[in-house]
Formats: sequence, structure tokens, C-alpha cells
Amino acid sequence: MHIFPRLSEALNTSETNKNAVLMVDLQFFRSDEGRDMLSGSISGKLELNCQRCLSGLPYQLDTELNLQVLDKDKLEEAGDRELAEAELEVALSDQGSLDLLALLEDEIMLSLPIVIYHDELDCNQAYNALKKRASAAPEAETKQKPFAELQGLKEQLQQEKQKLKKLKD
Ligand SMILES: [Zn+2]
Repeated sequence: MHIFPRLSEALNTSETNKNAVLMVDLQFFRSDEGRDMLSGSISGKLELNCQRCLSGLPYQLDTELNLQVLDKDKLEEAGDRELAEAELEVALSDQGSLDLLALLEDEIMLSLPIVIYHDELDCNQAYNALKKRASAAPEAETKQKPFAELQGLKEQLQQEKQKLKKLKD
């Protein structure tokens, strides 16, 4: 991950991320319209942070890219309108050379969800315990009442028994 400094800064420091292996499949080709194209896919397992409990959450990265490669000085020539019509994203090269790592890093970072949560059941135990305690508190109060009533009944019964005993005597 050290080859992607910005990405590793954005991710947590878990072993999953430290040992992450990303599969990159890229193809350079010239399209029928004569455009230089770069297309392919990036996939791998990463770990993101859950926004609810802030602990790690496995994330399957799976993103595709389809870019037109244009040299910086040819960008004006091509014109924004033509690019917009083609609905193509552009990767800018500098005199024929392309910073592939930076480009891949951009693509990965753009593909990451901005906000991600565990399924509610998977959120970490601290969070669940907290929630349980919060919802259990009112229950505990209502549960105490029946016992209190039972206790009262028991005392009443004992008093009745004693009364009976006295009567018999
Ligand atoms: Zn969570």
C-alpha cells in the first residue's frame, strides 16, 4: 500500500489494509474513433471504517475505468465539447507519459463509498451492549413491580396464616 500514499492515509491501519493485494487489469488501445484509450478494472479487499461504531468493516473494492488518454498540450485541441459528447473521462499524459500509479490511486479513491456502515447486527459489541443497556433499563423497572407485588402477597398470606392459627388456638 506504500505505493498509494494518499489512499493508505485515507484507510485505517489494519492488517487487512497493510497486506492488501489489489488486482489491476489494464488495457491500452486505440478506439475505432482513433482515441487512445485506457480501460480496465481494479479489485481487492480493503477495510474501511464504519461510520456508526468506527471499527473496521471489510470492503470489496471492485471498480472499472474507461478513460481517454490525452496529452496535456492536446487537451485544448480536442476541445471540451468533443469530450463531453463522447462522455469520456480523460487521463492526462505529459508528453506521452502517464503517471499510472497516481491515476490508479485516483480511481480507487473515487470509487470508495463516502459513508459506510456495518449491518446493524454487525456493529461492534460496545455499541450493541450500549444499546442493550439503554433498552433494558425501562424493562428492568417493570419487571421489579410484579416481584414487589408477589412479596406483598406473601406477607399477606403469612398474616392470614397467623390469624388462622390464633383463631384455632
Ligand atoms: Zn459498525
